[in-house]
Amino acid sequence: MALHQDSIRTLPGIGPKKAELFAKLGIQTLGDLLLFFPRDYEDRTQLLPISSLEVDQPACFIASVVTNPQTHRIPKPGRKRLEYTKVTVADHTGRLNLTFFNASYTAEKLIRGETYCFYGTLTGDYLGYAMTNPLFEPLDAAGSVTRCIMPIYPLTAGLSNKQVFTAVQAALARCAITETLPEDVLQAYDLCDAATALREIHLPSGAEALEAARKRLVFEEFYIFSAALATVRAKRTVFSSVPMQTSDMADFYRSLPFTLTNAQTRAINDILTDFRSGKPMSRLVQGDVGCGKTMVAAAAAYCAAKNGRQTAFMAPTEILARQHFDRLAPMFAAWKIPCILLTGSMTAAQKKNIRQKIANGEYALVIGTHALLTETTVFSDLGLVIADEQHRFGVAQRAALLAKGERPHLLIMSATPIPRTLALILYGDLDVSVIDELPPGRQPVETFLVDERYRARLNGFIRKQAQEGHQTFIVCPAIEEGEIESLKAAEQWAQTLKSTVFPNLRVALLHGKMKGAEKEAVMEAFAKREYDILVSTTVIEVGVDVPNATLMVVENADRFGLSQLHQLRGRIGRGDAKSYCILVSEHPSAETRARLKALCATSDGFRIAEEDLKLRGPGDFFGSRQSGLPVFHIGNLAQDLNVLKQAQQAAAETIQRGALPEALQASVDALLQNGEFRMN
Ligand code: ADP
Ligand code: MG
Repeated sequence: MALHQDSIRTLPGIGPKKAELFAKLGIQTLGDLLLFFPRDYEDRTQLLPISSLEVDQPACFIASVVTNPQTHRIPKPGRKRLEYTKVTVADHTGRLNLTFFNASYTAEKLIRGETYCFYGTLTGDYLGYAMTNPLFEPLDAAGSVTRCIMPIYPLTAGLSNKQVFTAVQAALARCAITETLPEDVLQAYDLCDAATALREIHLPSGAEALEAARKRLVFEEFYIFSAALATVRAKRTVFSSVPMQTSDMADFYRSLPFTLTNAQTRAINDILTDFRSGKPMSRLVQGDVGCGKTMVAAAAAYCAAKNGRQTAFMAPTEILARQHFDRLAPMFAAWKIPCILLTGSMTAAQKKNIRQKIANGEYALVIGTHALLTETTVFSDLGLVIADEQHRFGVAQRAALLAKGERPHLLIMSATPIPRTLALILYGDLDVSVIDELPPGRQPVETFLVDERYRARLNGFIRKQAQEGHQTFIVCPAIEEGEIESLKAAEQWAQTLKSTVFPNLRVALLHGKMKGAEKEAVMEAFAKREYDILVSTTVIEVGVDVPNATLMVVENADRFGLSQLHQLRGRIGRGDAKSYCILVSEHPSAETRARLKALCATSDGFRIAEEDLKLRGPGDFFGSRQSGLPVFHIGNLAQDLNVLKQAQQAAAETIQRGALPEALQASVDALLQNGEFRMN
């Protein structure tokens, strides 16, 4: 093991300068080098006769040199001279002219009459074929640059692939690689040992061996990750909190304007059970947009208040925080539970005053953004933290929250339906309640996919909604024109609509670069029906509730992930009137078309999520803006979900049987401590 900690400077040929370049790639020790995995491979195993070489298809061939290499030099004033070497090679199927540019030193090593293995790409057409700068080596060179699967490493300027490759091979030769996974796990999941895996990942002996090596390394990474999640989960259960009384809920239920759905009631009961348990709760309430999560949160806050404990209710944006406040404040006022909004855009004096009162325990419910949890906000008795729309909120942050002196109960609410496999990763440390039911009477939103030919009718439709007193959201992928060519930009589009298309309608603009107070003012005015149309970027994606809006138009819909579009669609269909979502996409590819059509055909968020995962992979899962998923070193959530499942199972089994092996425990601890456990 000690060797792994040795500096790469101990390798031949790596001095301070090179070491600096390696450091740029995050490599300082031999161990770092071993874990610096190739980003790709070049398969140079295909060996063809010359006559079978194909243009633009790199391949190996064995041939003899039939001419003496001839080097020509073309002087170029003021510049490095151009130099090329020509040589002809042949096998029993044909001849081929090779040209080496600025490589006379290399090319002149070719000796007439000798046979070599070459690797290169054929160019040319029926008038003549040729090859430039092929790699070659003597036949007895045991395939170190030809007839092999060549690893391709991520590089930095000044460092070549060959240099990295050589260093890695030297490190492999120097280090004794000990096994980290338990023997029975290797057996049960048919994994190769650590030494083989590292050797094969850096210089595969064949495609199958490479696959086995990769599987083993991916497995180990997922295994450690799963063990870390399990550790967080286990830690939680060693802490205790004062059990809460949950019998005093009658007033809450009595004053609701509607009957809760069964799913809402179930979620509330899960929470109340946690409250009584004497252990800090860590619960995720997951449910599609519009299923009524806010009321579940209100029930939890109500119960906490009845027990004399404070609640911090965090929303991801100021708009949402304000909306929650506007909706909840009257209810809590009726219950005589003091409630306050605290946002970043308030004046310093206002904030100071409110914080003072929070510290004195004058407010039982504090609604705001994540900024609520910075040190400057001190609670007198924080019993519950509610995080709405949490997919921007990672395991490490959750763990940090739990460590906050009082160990408050934690309730996280997510409107993003997540395929079960991904949920295990994102929420493996949480208990989960699913709200799989919408309040009665909701009409499904009708969704259509259209192109520019439909523009005039679409405009007419928007006008009609306005005439009927309803409102329209128009979502654009960009804020300003020119960010990405050919994308509708909210600013210019709003201007065009206002001045030429809908001069008689009231058009508002909302985007992420606007100040918090500005955004709020626009949103509020829109909610109060002061505008007919809101042109916006995806800032309206999360949670905004304007029941009078009945039309959602998404421009360049192909730019968005399905789950994101589903979220956008969730902004409408919240009132009694029939609602429509129009996806505008010009010339979508067949695949994109199929994707968008799938969205038109279903309103089931979980099915859409599964589809999205299948089609775009988890990297894009939440749209590029907020991936929320952990970054793995070698594991790839899109292609390795099966390995993930196995690793998760294995980690659970190992932990159930007792402690992790020491080396693994060290890796788990390291993961928990450093930022890599961050999820966004
Ligand atoms: P989300 O789960 O997306 O956060 P909200 O909590 O914003 O959903 O609820 C969406 C709308 O449905 C709100 O206007 C809310 O008042 C209403 N609502 C919630 N629960 C019910 C219910 N049981 N019956 C009828 N309407 C409900
Ligand atoms: Mg919500």
